[in-house]
Amino acid sequence: MSCLFCRIIAGEIPASKVYEDDRIIAFNDINPQAPLHVLIVPREHVATLNDLSAAHDGLVGEMVRRAAALAKERGYAESGFRTVFNCHEGAGQSVFHIHLHVLGGRRFSWPPG
Ligand code: AMP
Ligand code: ZN
Repeated sequence: MSCLFCRIIAGEIPASKVYEDDRIIAFNDINPQAPLHVLIVPREHVATLNDLSAAHDGLVGEMVRRAAALAKERGYAESGFRTVFNCHEGAGQSVFHIHLHVLGGRRFSWPPG
């Protein structure tokens, strides 16, 4: 298995998990860009957002709602948090298994870099 996040899901590589259920797992980013930087990852391997179908709509909804729940747990629901899906290299995607970044605990600028 070559996909890094599939290997984390399989337990072959350790990760600092903060949430898991039968469809998604969430773990701390190894190179955090904010006090809160969690990755929300579906157990199903989907390489990029371009590979999603209508069958994934529920899954993506769960990922987004989990992001909001984790931000709320950490106290950032009202102060603000950032969610990001990078799609392909030009946007900064480096792991080709979709993941939602959840960042909080500092101010975020717009437009993003
Ligand atoms: P992206 O660049 O959007 O594909 O995001 C990939 C993220 O995965 C980056 O923020 C990395 O810091 C993070 N990352 C890479 N390897 C690991 C790992 N072993 N455990 C946790 N996060 C990782
Ligand atoms: Zn994968």
